[in-house]
Amino acid sequence: EGLEFFRQLNRYMNEQFAPQDEVLADVRRSIEENGLPSISVSPATGKLLTMLVAISGAKRVLEIGALGGYSGICLARGFGKEGTLTSLELVEEYARLARQNLKKAGFGSQVTYMIGPALESLETLAANGERFDFFFIDADKENYIRYLDYCIRLANPGAIIAADNTLAGSGVGASDALRRRGEIMKQFNETVACHPQLDAMFIPIGDGVTVARVKKTA
Ligand code: SAM
Repeated sequence: EGLEFFRQLNRYMNEQFAPQDEVLADVRRSIEENGLPSISVSPATGKLLTMLVAISGAKRVLEIGALGGYSGICLARGFGKEGTLTSLELVEEYARLARQNLKKAGFGSQVTYMIGPALESLETLAANGERFDFFFIDADKENYIRYLDYCIRLANPGAIIAADNTLAGSGVGASDALRRRGEIMKQFNETVACHPQLDAMFIPIGDGVTVARVKKTA
């Protein structure tokens, strides 16, 4: 019963606050046509990302898990003409489609893809002394806590870290798959909530988004 209410609430948020325009609808279509998994963020989550980037004024954004570029476009819309997106993706073919979609959306010259295991790309970024204002974690769930550690290392003071699919940690939903993921996310949310360098909150939109801010003084 609670789950049904939650689904209705999300439908309402998607329809009332995040109707997909042609660009985003085309991205979803291209993902299906090319046989990629349909696991992009929900429209409402995408809209939340756009707003978080815009409100925070972030100009350098890092995404972990590109897929077909849906969330990448949402993030880029938050900074508009003045910003850059670095996106990490394991599968070259996915990154290729994402690049195509970002280009169609008008952000072709503002996005860089790093292909390979995200942990390796993150190590490269750290070694190069790169810094970011905003992070979106949305790749393999087992590595979420490792990704979080890297985000904190790569963060400018006051940077925002958002992670998708963290609702499972709240215990809502009862399928086996959710329960397994639930253990991982429960630990992730606990780590974020108790981290001395972070202020954090959980937003029950889409599949759940955990949002943290890196404190200015550690
Ligand atoms: N953020 C995307 C969006 O909403 O448009 C969806 C990302 S999808 C949920 C997860 C992505 O992470 C997949 O494209 C997958 O190939 C990628 N991925 C999985 N393991 C990875 C790894 N170790 N390093 C980098 N990317 C990885």
